[in-house]
Amino acid sequence: MVIKTIDILKNEIPIEEESLIITEDVKAGLVLVDIINGFCTVGAGNLAPREPNRQISEMIEESKRLARLFCDKKWPILAFLDSHQPHKLEHPYPPHCITGTDESNLVPALRWLEKEQNVTIRRKDCYDGYIGSFQEDGSNVFVDWVKNNKIQTLLVVGVCTDICVLDFVCSTLSAKNRGFLNPLEQVVVYSKGCATFDFPASMARNSKDISPHPQELMHHVGLYMAKERGAKIAREVSFDSLKKP
Ligand SMILES: [Zn+2]
Repeated sequence: MVIKTIDILKNEIPIEEESLIITEDVKAGLVLVDIINGFCTVGAGNLAPREPNRQISEMIEESKRLARLFCDKKWPILAFLDSHQPHKLEHPYPPHCITGTDESNLVPALRWLEKEQNVTIRRKDCYDGYIGSFQEDGSNVFVDWVKNNKIQTLLVVGVCTDICVLDFVCSTLSAKNRGFLNPLEQVVVYSKGCATFDFPASMARNSKDISPHPQELMHHVGLYMAKERGAKIAREVSFDSLKKP
């Protein structure tokens, strides 16, 4: 029997996942991290998948499902969109998601969100959506969004699990611990609503620009690191009050 690296990793650093049931009596907010063409649509750019990818497709489907439920309830959604000026590169990655191009727009399955009243769109030019939410006057779009909507449970989905999702979750948890985000109580990362890119070691050997990044391993590591910071990891998310008879 061949033991795969991912099985060893899951055995060595297991992640306890839970089922999140969102009820009417808790104020919930949904954060969508970079579910944009440049990272998710086949052939859309330097950092887009080269071929259809199961983890990314599932992430889009689950994010769409949650976004639809939140919109039906008029509950708050904040969507981060990676958007860079052409002359400002983001080391160590090649140019991607340039402002004004379709790479930096929501994927077709989520584009309808732009017209929804309960959705806030925040374009950011760095990995971390918390840092990317600071405005020139020192205010922070994300902090204001949490406070104005009195969000207690923050549900996070998007890409990449181990990069922008993780960075945002880490900053949010540090800010919460310092009392910047009251009344926020918990940050939940939905594992099936997250994905990362696949760049196996065999391909990385021929590239001097990008390090190896095996998808399943890095997705697992991202979730593990988020949990280590105090996030909850959800295997499934359901809405108690929205069950149809
Ligand atoms: Zn970027």
